[in-house]
Amino acid sequence: MKVPFLELISPCAEIQDEINTAIQRVIKSGWYILGPEVEAFESAFADYCGVSHCVGVGNGLDALQLILRAMDIGPGDEVIVPAHTFIASWLAVSHIGATPIPVDISIKSYNLDPDLIEAAITSRTKAIMPVHLYGRPARMDVISGIAKMHGLKVVEDAAQAHGASFQGDKAGALGDAAAFSFYPGKNLGALGDGGAITTNDGELADRLRSLRNYGSKEKYVHTAAGVNSRLDELQAAVLRVKLRQLDTWNQRRKIIAALYSEQLSDTDLILPSVEVGEESSWHLYVVRTCAREKIMTHLAAKGVGAMIHYPIPPYRQEAYNSMPKDFGRFPISDSMCDEILSLPMGPHLSNSQVGYVSDCLIEALG
Ligand SMILES: *Cc1c(COP(=O)(O)O)cnc(C)c1O
Repeated sequence: MKVPFLELISPCAEIQDEINTAIQRVIKSGWYILGPEVEAFESAFADYCGVSHCVGVGNGLDALQLILRAMDIGPGDEVIVPAHTFIASWLAVSHIGATPIPVDISIKSYNLDPDLIEAAITSRTKAIMPVHLYGRPARMDVISGIAKMHGLKVVEDAAQAHGASFQGDKAGALGDAAAFSFYPGKNLGALGDGGAITTNDGELADRLRSLRNYGSKEKYVHTAAGVNSRLDELQAAVLRVKLRQLDTWNQRRKIIAALYSEQLSDTDLILPSVEVGEESSWHLYVVRTCAREKIMTHLAAKGVGAMIHYPIPPYRQEAYNSMPKDFGRFPISDSMCDEILSLPMGPHLSNSQVGYVSDCLIEALG
């Protein structure tokens, strides 16, 4: 049996006719940028997340970056980020001229450790950027409390958390603004690049609509030095169709996660968890093991795809060479990246495929 780590054809095949109809509609409309499809998707996604505004942009990195810019964060400012995340969370801060200030993660949730945040706050701190890593929501109650006490903004990196929720509120509605990515492999994925920002702040949304489109609200009148980062009509049309499946597909991910957890419960693997009040989007199912090398070799031989998210933390990347190299400042992140392993995950994995992956893992460990 072959079990690819990620398989993007089945979701499209399941709703092929609706996707084709949507694409044809856009082609025939003769309108390809910032039109009715983007507006309809923005409205649907805002409703889905339970916020009043959504602004479609070119990708997740731009979504993060534009939020920070719209909040007037820039050179000389600091933004608190998790030490362990996809590098885009950090790059968004760096690209606007501010400094990412890493804080270690919790060994249980793999998200920002709320107990370590306050020690990282300085007079230059402007915002905290929790990342709902692997789809599990960060401790937003504690993080929001700290932010409020220190007058900081909260910017969610929700790129892996479409449909996740914390204490009843959806990712995207848990901070001052949130960034989503529609990169094809995400829970809600486009057929190319795409991203969106959600917020309840109407003024911020207004500024973002202008910033994404050359700093212009009125054609050829530019009130800010904006960028070109727009969700296009074709992607928006496809996303409108796929959004209708998101809850069903996330539910299937949750079942797959439960199957893995049950089948692997007697092994030495450290399995992912969620706490009461947290609903993960199960973007990834990540286990920890000291025997990763051995397991990966065995899985590869058995035709099972597994990956590491992420093998090198941002602070050890060449891109951040100028940062002080005191490894050990982030002991949890440091040990994580040697132990984590992401198993195949997706709404179209069959129960027998999941069972096969578990059997191969048990074999490798035995
Ligand atoms: C995918 C991802 C991003 C970036 O999204 P792009 O659309 O690829 O720019 C940012 N943060 C996290 C945590 C991600 O997983």
